[in-house]
Amino acid sequence: MEVVKITPRGYCYGVVDAMKMVRQIAENPTAKKPIFVLGLIVHNRHAVDELNRYGVISLDGENRLELIEKVSQGTVVFTAHGVSQAVRRRAEEKGLDIVDATCPDVTKTHDLIRRLADADYTILYIGRRGHPEPEGAMGEAPDHVRLIETAADTDGLDLQGRRLAVVTQTTLSRWDTEQTIQELQARYPQIEVFNEICLATQLRQEAAVREAERCDVVIVVGDARSNNSNRLVQVVREQAGRPAYLVDTVGDIDPSWLEGKTTVGVTAGSSTPSPITREVVQFLEGYETAGATASRS
Ligand code: SF4
Repeated sequence: MEVVKITPRGYCYGVVDAMKMVRQIAENPTAKKPIFVLGLIVHNRHAVDELNRYGVISLDGENRLELIEKVSQGTVVFTAHGVSQAVRRRAEEKGLDIVDATCPDVTKTHDLIRRLADADYTILYIGRRGHPEPEGAMGEAPDHVRLIETAADTDGLDLQGRRLAVVTQTTLSRWDTEQTIQELQARYPQIEVFNEICLATQLRQEAAVREAERCDVVIVVGDARSNNSNRLVQVVREQAGRPAYLVDTVGDIDPSWLEGKTTVGVTAGSSTPSPITREVVQFLEGYETAGATASRS
């Protein structure tokens, strides 16, 4: 099997830094213990397991204001997805040591939301419900921000004549977002657009779509809860017109996906550790398909 190793893929700068910060605090003998991560440091169970081996406790759950009530002492780590001001205040009130691993790109979006809210904008935030990044971003100005997934989510809202801005989650599909923004602009001509999809996400998506065109099938290595990994699958299917599958590990590869195929692309979400992706690549490089024919159109 010919394997196209799509680059860039895997850990982004925000995730690399977040993982490094947690390892450093875990190894620091003077750090207040126990060390809790509020939510999953990144949406990948292998990365979370690695931190568990350092004695770090990951608190999983959607509502981080509730999660922080489980912590009474020690150090709390805010994940790369960012937290709301209310969570930050509560951690301070509880006297916890704070390690803030929020990605600088997410912090930039939080700053933007605060500036817009101060100028009395209503902010339509395009993001995924139940994901921690929107929760943190909306918490910057709860009275001003509305979470939407599609333009139809603004049905019934009285937004005409308002100062209006649209802001996006960092890990969305650039193509999806463009379409939603165009629909919003048609509904609300006054709307100001702030596309906050981060560079790491954009580069991984663009490379995946470009390289998929010379592949019969693309395997995306990532966790089912990882938004950016799911978006990679989506953009390969929708923009390159190639079959794409998400796998957590090499064991998830279904041989039927490879039947009759000669070229497979491999990419990975920005929260996927490289060793997991390497195993997938090695497996595919050694894979021999019976009766492989060029199935690309
Ligand atoms: S995906 Fe983008 S926003 Fe998220 S941690 Fe990585 S660089 Fe930061």
